[in-house]
Amino acid sequence: MRNIVVKAAGFAVAASISSFALVMTVVPLLGGVVEGNAILMSVITPLVVAFPAGLFTCWQQKRLHNALCDLTLAHDRLAEAHMELARVHAQLSAKARLDDMTGLLNREAFFESLKNARRRTDSGVLLIIDADNFKYINDTHGHPQGDVALLLMSEAIARSVREHDLVGRIGGEEFAAFLSATDTDEAMIVAERIRLSVEAIRFSPGEGQVLPLSVSIGASRVHAQNTLSDVMREADRHLYLAKRNGRNRVVFEGG
Ligand code: GH3
Ligand code: MG
Ligand code: MG
Repeated sequence: MRNIVVKAAGFAVAASISSFALVMTVVPLLGGVVEGNAILMSVITPLVVAFPAGLFTCWQQKRLHNALCDLTLAHDRLAEAHMELARVHAQLSAKARLDDMTGLLNREAFFESLKNARRRTDSGVLLIIDADNFKYINDTHGHPQGDVALLLMSEAIARSVREHDLVGRIGGEEFAAFLSATDTDEAMIVAERIRLSVEAIRFSPGEGQVLPLSVSIGASRVHAQNTLSDVMREADRHLYLAKRNGRNRVVFEGG
């Protein structure tokens, strides 16, 4: 407020000096004489008019300046909120693609990623990986212990594939892996590695107990000519053969 008064006073004094100088210059040029009250009026009138006008103008200017600052601040906050929203949105979208329990891709995201991967490379191998006799674990040790076993298996599977392979949980105790640009021999090596790392888990559902875990794996080649349902059907058929032949094994071509 003090600044406004000082500024307005400055305007008033400048106006008064200008008025005085103008009167003292112009009136004699026009043949008049400046004296007494005329001098006083030339000084006082601008003071009386310019001071409140200056006050009002400076006050309005200050209000405008404050409003502009508030607006800039609100704009910055809005931009920050917008960025935060975009970040949370990206986090939620990423989370919606993951299976809550294992953190692997969920069924929808796995098959969507598989379709995308096939656009880049039309050769690879699909593995369907199913936990063996899993119902037994739930029935004898309870569902929470079953969940622990599932989590351990998912970690073993994720550890066994290569960095660019896709892994998902496509059902309750069923997982899938897509090994892109991989030939049969290499796919067999990865599938065996998965099987062995699940077999190596030391799952303890209770004090002193260790329960063996295993998976059966059905594999199927993915190439440009077969559709996703062809591939799934073949992998499922091979998985069925792996179960029928005693579980804890990988079946690739025909059993
Ligand atoms: P197989 O070797 O023939 O595959 O036998 P299985 O017992 O594994 O297969 P089955 O289909 O008979 O049973 C699967 C079991 O997996 C039954 C179901 O309760 C259990 N299951 C599915 N999802 C979950 C889960 O998220 N947590 C737990 N704890 N159990 C699950
Ligand atoms: Mg099973
Ligand atoms: Mg199953």
